[in-house]
Amino acid sequence: MSSSSQQPLEHDDNEEFDVIVVGAGFAGMYLLHRLRGMGLSARVYETGASVGGTWYWNRYPGARCDAESLAYSYSFSRELEDEWNWSERYATQPEILRYAERVAAKFDLKRDIRFERRVTRAHFDDASGRWTVETDRGDRASARFCVMATGCLSVPQVPQIAGLEDFAGPTYWTSKWPHDGVDFAGRRVGIIGTGSSAIQAIPVIAAQAKHLTVFQRTPNFSVPACNAPLDPKFVDAFKANYPGHRQNHRLGMGAGFGDLTVEPHPGGPAIETAAGRSEKEVRELLEKYWRIGGAHFIGAIADTMMNPDTNRIVADFVRGKIRATVKDPATADALCPTSHPIGTKRICVDTDYYETFNRANVKLVDIRKNPIDRVDATGLRLQNGERHDFDALVLATGFDAMTGALLKIDVRGAGGRSLRDAWATGPRTYLGIGVAGFPNLFTITGPGSPSVLSNMLVSIEQHVDWTVACIDYMRKNGYRRIEAQQASQDQWVGHVNEVADATLFPQGGSWYLGANIPGKPRVFMPYAAGVGVYREIADRVAANGYEGFAFAR
Ligand SMILES: Cc1cc2nc3c(=O)[nH]c(=O)nc-3n(C[C@H](O)[C@H](O)[C@H](O)COP(=O)(O)OP(=O)(O)OC[C@H]3O[C@@H](n4cnc5c(N)ncnc54)[C@H](O)[C@@H]3O)c2cc1C
Repeated sequence: MSSSSQQPLEHDDNEEFDVIVVGAGFAGMYLLHRLRGMGLSARVYETGASVGGTWYWNRYPGARCDAESLAYSYSFSRELEDEWNWSERYATQPEILRYAERVAAKFDLKRDIRFERRVTRAHFDDASGRWTVETDRGDRASARFCVMATGCLSVPQVPQIAGLEDFAGPTYWTSKWPHDGVDFAGRRVGIIGTGSSAIQAIPVIAAQAKHLTVFQRTPNFSVPACNAPLDPKFVDAFKANYPGHRQNHRLGMGAGFGDLTVEPHPGGPAIETAAGRSEKEVRELLEKYWRIGGAHFIGAIADTMMNPDTNRIVADFVRGKIRATVKDPATADALCPTSHPIGTKRICVDTDYYETFNRANVKLVDIRKNPIDRVDATGLRLQNGERHDFDALVLATGFDAMTGALLKIDVRGAGGRSLRDAWATGPRTYLGIGVAGFPNLFTITGPGSPSVLSNMLVSIEQHVDWTVACIDYMRKNGYRRIEAQQASQDQWVGHVNEVADATLFPQGGSWYLGANIPGKPRVFMPYAAGVGVYREIADRVAANGYEGFAFAR
């Protein structure tokens, strides 16, 4: 991999900071900027060789955002908003990475980031009330606060497929794509996985490769992105009211998942409800939102995620679209999801995904029906004896979401208690940002917050702003220690579960639940009541002196 880091690999040797931040994606970058603004000293450690997190690692062909560029960007600097021009409705990975680099340069962030370091341990010392953090390169530093900005989707899931290491050709992970790209021209390619990343990559790889075999275990619902270059007039008008739009996004009124072009309604664009409408009328509404494109389709009918009857109408509508697009009925059938309500696994957004299966050089193999027996030097064999040979293998097998990166670190809180033990039966947090027994630790977009159910830039800014305000409150009041109270945490976890149980989400068997990772506890991790409701609660907690947290001087 090429390295864009300009930094020599010098070590931190028992250095002391106010705050240590783990991760230099959009969360760690903004946090560093805010901490500096408060006059606090901070050190950021990042495994990658540069900033950008998700957009540094996921360089597969077709990688792009499925939140709209104008909303999937920082709101904290009007100057940055004005000077940066997105070229398409949904930005490509290279463009988002250029944006991250621009932000790092504009705010001079890199001088406080140590790249190519993986934090391996973070231990809290009861006596000093400080965290000591160590990296795989031998750095050791301490700080009053430790903030985990490690990302919800930053640890790839390693599929348990026999013989993977026997494949003689190159194997590419979508989440660790080579920096100088891959040329598939003239090659036979196999891809395992049909989640968001694969759905973006498949049309692009198919257009280049001699042949593409898609190995699908679980079909996913995908809606068209309807991506297009941004019209400068639309951008100018949007930017003229940027603060108003941002405020709407913060309150959950639209979040940029295909809704920026829909006229805003009070309470957000998702006002349509199936109640009192005939199925035909609901289908007409869906047709309208299908043509607009984007993930907002799933929120077009307000009760889609609550009401099984509405959900079935929406799912049938999409299955109808798949069947109308894919010419071979058997392939169309295999592509139609039937095992989960629509939206309970993250809805995918694509450009020509279903159309790609009409190409002569693309074949779909249903590995739910015929599981993979093993990979060998030249391809793989299914359990029914069928062989598929290819020259290159692509793994698009997802992530150990939300807790993966946190639990890879040996985190120990008060009394030496490990986070792995504390979360043995699933993650437990207060507001997704504090963990009982782990003083002075904050988890940006942690489990129990809206995180992956939201436009993440909106949630990242909120958690960072909340965290720095909390640290500032402690400074002003002479507190040196903060810790989520057990009772508040228990209550919050109960509430998060209650909200999830009122929806269809737990039926999805998705990575939201940890269901893609063998042995991972099945807990619905994100908070499903929406960013507006969540913000109100988090703001109220702060306004009431951070109620539910205990402080000590
Ligand atoms: C392919 C893909 C597409 C996505 N599209 C969207 C989208 O359209 N809209 C949306 O809202 N969200 C999307 N997301 C979610 C995306 O992760 C967030 O939007 C956002 O980029 C997260 O920023 P972050 O800083 O919280 O985490 P990340 O970007 O994941 O950054 C975390 C960083 O922490 C580093 N790190 C982790 N552990 C350690 C450690 N122990 N030591 C040192 N460094 C460590 C990682 O290397 C990583 O660089 C997408 C995610 C993926 C994978």
